[in-house]
Amino acid sequence: MNEAIKKEILEAIKKADKIVISRHLRPDGDAIGSSRGLAALLRASFPEKDIRVCGDDSSDYLAFLGPDDPHPSEAHYRESLLIVTDTGNEGRISNQYFSLAPRVIKIDHHIPDQDHFGHLAWVEPERSSCCEMIADFYRSFPNDLKLTREAALLLYTGMVTDSGRFRFPSVSGDTLRLAGMLLDTGLDTESLFARLGLREADSFRYEAYVYEHMKFTPNGVAYLFVDGPMQQRFSLSREDASETISYLSEIKGSLIWLAFIDNGDGSIRVRLRSRFVTVQELATRYHGGGHDRASGATVYSWEEAEQLLAEADELLKNYKENHEGWL
Ligand code: AMP
Repeated sequence: MNEAIKKEILEAIKKADKIVISRHLRPDGDAIGSSRGLAALLRASFPEKDIRVCGDDSSDYLAFLGPDDPHPSEAHYRESLLIVTDTGNEGRISNQYFSLAPRVIKIDHHIPDQDHFGHLAWVEPERSSCCEMIADFYRSFPNDLKLTREAALLLYTGMVTDSGRFRFPSVSGDTLRLAGMLLDTGLDTESLFARLGLREADSFRYEAYVYEHMKFTPNGVAYLFVDGPMQQRFSLSREDASETISYLSEIKGSLIWLAFIDNGDGSIRVRLRSRFVTVQELATRYHGGGHDRASGATVYSWEEAEQLLAEADELLKNYKENHEGWL
């Protein structure tokens, strides 16, 4: 079935003279890798087309992947095919001109919810990244598409970052086959991993603080409230604050871990991660969604944060009572 959708997408791309590619707000490696990676693939394959990557926000940490294109005129949007990658719902699209495009294609790996969008949607929630889907798209049409090293690096970056360096349960044999195909273009992975992994010394001081101050609910949910004063004390960027979640990922018995990050505008971003247990439904109850074991949500007060935390605790309690073999 997906083969038919992919074919339809390729035909729509072939017909379009102007293509704008967008992704989700607060872009991560997969959002940037999939949007720019698809653009690089299409630019190499169809040099006569006007192909742009446009978002309303970007990421400092991933600046090494290159800049976006400026938004074109509204008239340009009205004549463009808009492709949105790595974005589950309409509210998360990082493109204020989204509704001007006459035709929208969604390529995504999130679990679909009600806020559906796109005239044509290719969604594979079992894929570890959207970049994996774009790599698969190329593999389906090797005679129509041209894979450059630039495109391969962008796609590989998204695959690496969204799969926890190929460790998450969503990584399949096909993930690695596609990654191998990209690596074969001759990627410089030493530089890539240095760019993705090296950190300023100060961020280790913050990490130490996280371990000193992390908290646990009665049933073992690990969490931290990253409030405004904490962000100021360590001069945390939005991305530094977001990283808090990754420091909590390897605590025995804490199968769910949460970071609450004060956005400074009356809202609090919640990052939810888990092993064995599914947190996606919990996130959906708090204006969020995502994947089974990696979701995001938003709450609007610390009281609401406590409520979400209590639900996470209950979820973990039930899980532990009804399952064996968890760690
Ligand atoms: P995050 O913790 O923000 O990295 O989010 C984890 C995953 O959940 C990512 O794949 C996000 O795209 C997705 N996600 C985050 N926030 C939301 C939301 N409000 N609605 C739907 N999906 C989300």
